[in-house]
Amino acid sequence: EMEQLEKLRDLPAQTTDGRRIELVANIGRPEETEAVLAKGAEGVGLFRSEFLFMDREQLPTEEEQFAAYRDAISGMAGKPVIIRTLDVGGDKHLPYLDMPKEENPFLGWRAIRISLDRIDLFKEQLRAILRASAFGKALIMFPMISHVEQIRRAKGLVEEVKQELRQEGIAFDEAIPLGIMIEIPAACLIADALAAEVDFFSIGTNDLVQYTLAVDRMNERLSDLYSYFHPAVLRLIQQVIDASHRNGIWTGMCGEMAADPLAAPLLLGMGLDEFSCNANSLPRVKEQIRRMSYESAQEVAKNALALSTPDEVKTYLASL
Ligand code: PEP
Ligand code: MG
Repeated sequence: EMEQLEKLRDLPAQTTDGRRIELVANIGRPEETEAVLAKGAEGVGLFRSEFLFMDREQLPTEEEQFAAYRDAISGMAGKPVIIRTLDVGGDKHLPYLDMPKEENPFLGWRAIRISLDRIDLFKEQLRAILRASAFGKALIMFPMISHVEQIRRAKGLVEEVKQELRQEGIAFDEAIPLGIMIEIPAACLIADALAAEVDFFSIGTNDLVQYTLAVDRMNERLSDLYSYFHPAVLRLIQQVIDASHRNGIWTGMCGEMAADPLAAPLLLGMGLDEFSCNANSLPRVKEQIRRMSYESAQEVAKNALALSTPDEVKTYLASL
């Protein structure tokens, strides 16, 4: 069986009737690119930049960041690498950032909210990413977007940094694509407006489930309630994908749901364009995609979306 999975590595993630899916990997460190390529990933769908900021006493320098992004980008040898800007707050505390003690940290000063408050820090990260973009194919992704204005401000800052680099004669990818994580229900509901502002979406189901169901993703007592098969979550995902396609952009997924082979026929049928999962799950997800026709997956999605409970959805998918 291992051998079969290995043979899969160089085959495309394509349905029996020819729909081509982008199958990419999540990484947390640049050193992981080798393992990711060995599993057949066509790129990196989520490079979590947090590792640069965690477990240390002060902010990483621009040079440190640049080196890490460049290593990831050149390690992927021309394949796309989506770099997510800083996503701390929530459960991730940085001692040197003067983070307030909050009653509800997951509803608090997190991710893009920090970046847009600490423009010095944000611009330094953007500058490091843009400089690294000269070494391969980079994309920038902003986490925790809930408001259109957040994208507009972030885009304005990208433009400022680009202008500075131009003036300094430093190379970068002028056409670097900008995308956002869709992980807040409000973002799903205004996906049309958001899609008009960016080049791509990536659905973060880990947070989307937490915020849609009001279930803390870290609370084990509530783990029975925490499910990406909840019909509310499925409907939001379908809305996001449809809105992106209406607006001519693509939607990926980098939350854990994308790594679940059981969910693959459903996501495929919903029209998801890109699956980003941990390297170890990648072959099995590819196997699922290659086993199905897009037409039958669309039927699966339609049937699943008509069900009323997470268990019904799971049981149905397991019966296929
Ligand atoms: C998510 O929320 O689904 C996600 C991919 O981001 P993180 O798990 O880093 O919050
Ligand atoms: Mg998240």
